[in-house]
Amino acid sequence: MSEPAARAKLLAALRAEGIADERVLDAIKRVPRDRFMPPAFHERAWENAALPIGHGQTISQPYIVALMSEALEVSDRHIVLEIGTGSGYQAAVLSLLARRVFTVERHRAMAETAEKRLKELRYNNVTCRFGDGTKGWPGQSTFDRIMVTAAGNSLPDALMTSLADGGVLVAPVGEEKRDQTLMRIRRTGDEYAVEELGAVRFVPLVAGLPRAAKG
Ligand code: SAH
Repeated sequence: MSEPAARAKLLAALRAEGIADERVLDAIKRVPRDRFMPPAFHERAWENAALPIGHGQTISQPYIVALMSEALEVSDRHIVLEIGTGSGYQAAVLSLLARRVFTVERHRAMAETAEKRLKELRYNNVTCRFGDGTKGWPGQSTFDRIMVTAAGNSLPDALMTSLADGGVLVAPVGEEKRDQTLMRIRRTGDEYAVEELGAVRFVPLVAGLPRAAKG
């Protein structure tokens, strides 16, 4: 199948699965997903599948990227924080939907590769950082939108307090190697309204940094 045909097929699959936000669909169509994965998987870049990207991590399935991006209700006025840069693919999709994206990754090598890639592809409104995302983003007080792309047993306090008043946070919550629940949280003052959006499966959100040797 030619690449345009593969892209069109993916877009049709996302629509069939219920993704309706045209801005999100357009962003998925525009971001070259192959550029965010190892060459061995380039031919499969437009499949609606999660694929390995090294360090035991995966690039999320396009449907999940679309679902979470849609659930985040992000506009071009918003400042977004993403926890778990991974390949940088989700950050690239968010960069087309938001004003600015800050993204943090706890594996140094992955953070550096993603940053380089995002620069090369000119996603200039994305700022990458190597660090532990469970602590939020030191120096930036609040975010209009927060997306966590790794699953923890609970949501770190630092992320809840980093959510601006009126803000929305989307995150998978639950145990490792089991189905987790995708949660959407809306903050109004000191109230946090929680909605469950369905079952998902993500790699774990791990507090702290890997030991230097594992980098
Ligand atoms: N958003 C990624 C896919 C997420 S994979 C993409 O589009 O490719 C989840 C990522 O979260 C992994 O790279 C993992 O290393 C990272 N991660 C896990 N715990 C973390 C933490 N505490 N802080 C920052 N990143 C974390």
